[in-house]
Amino acid sequence: MKVELQNLTKIFPSRNKKSGEEVIAVNNFTFTIPDGQLVGLLGPSGCGKSTTLYMISGLQQPTGGKIFFGDEDVTELSPENRGIGLVFQNYALYPHMTVKQNIMFPLQNLKGEDKMTKDQMIERAYEAAKLVQIDELMDRKPSELSGGQQQRVAIARALVKMPRVLLLDEPLSNLDARLRLQTREEIRRIQRETGITTVFVTHDQEEAMSISDIIVVMKLGVVQQIGKPQEVYDDPTNLFVAKFLGTPPINVFDGEVKGGKLYIGESAIIDVPGVDDRKVIVGVRPEGFIPDANGALTCKLNNVEVMGRDVSVVSANSASLNPVVRSIIDADYKINKNAEYVSFSLKAHKVFLFDAETEERIRFEVK
Ligand code: ATP
Repeated sequence: MKVELQNLTKIFPSRNKKSGEEVIAVNNFTFTIPDGQLVGLLGPSGCGKSTTLYMISGLQQPTGGKIFFGDEDVTELSPENRGIGLVFQNYALYPHMTVKQNIMFPLQNLKGEDKMTKDQMIERAYEAAKLVQIDELMDRKPSELSGGQQQRVAIARALVKMPRVLLLDEPLSNLDARLRLQTREEIRRIQRETGITTVFVTHDQEEAMSISDIIVVMKLGVVQQIGKPQEVYDDPTNLFVAKFLGTPPINVFDGEVKGGKLYIGESAIIDVPGVDDRKVIVGVRPEGFIPDANGALTCKLNNVEVMGRDVSVVSANSASLNPVVRSIIDADYKINKNAEYVSFSLKAHKVFLFDAETEERIRFEVK
């Protein structure tokens, strides 16, 4: 099921009557989610991702704009009539019911020709439970399950009505690190198996990058960039997106372009053909550094952390806008841990320039 958002906007009135300032939680969001894709809505707290999800679900009514499921305008439809499955951060299972009863619950209110017999409901509940691999636990109560198992029950409950669209709001936040990894892979598998168009809200960029077909990066209610995770990482549209994606985060420097060359401090680092002379902000991905005794970027060496295949070099540079410069290099390069300085040359395609005022990307041709 294709989901189309047209100029979707949500304005909350001010809570404070004196200041009168309303909050534009979502501002003119237009995007078509292709059928069967998993879309990650990503951004820092307060960027409007949950509000977007709630508008798609029907739990919140937009101030402006429209929502289509396929060709059907669902903007005015109630959540029950949209054919959605919803999963929240807190699994919200009924504690006095068994797993089976919890999963069957949404089927009990079906009316008219959708109404099911008890046997049909049990069969459906087992199908959904099998999908999330909890069919062995059907007679337990939620309190007898781990957090990850409880979240699977919540997912099975969302799937049991065979929704047209699956909506997940930070579904992994309450799980510990290992379960988060495992459950996110599960969600990906279930999504692939069922082919249900899915929207997944998270503030965790790594989670969104790993699970999504498409990511949507939001800031203060405004969509910043939409694309495949790797494409957005490799080609960010502004400094906000470049900084938001990637662990370790992108390194940021003050820089200047003079005569088609990029300077960080006194040194010309790379050629940036076609860029006029100007002050810039320079972003360098951690994997963009090559240790090179003759390299133009020299940093004071703080620490070398061996991570097996890779080495993390932590250093300092007076032009850096981050407290440290963090580079990830292949362990084959031997770095003298006791040296006072380390020099690098940079991979031009891992270097991004941004306007010092607007923070928008300035593109140059990588030779
Ligand atoms: P989080 O990750 O913290 O949940 P979010 O990106 O999901 O953040 P939203 O919950 O969508 O953000 O909120 C977007 C903005 O709208 C915030 O500034 C928030 O304070 C505001 N907001 C959300 N719900 C309401 C409401 N019911 N009334 C007033 N303002 C609201």
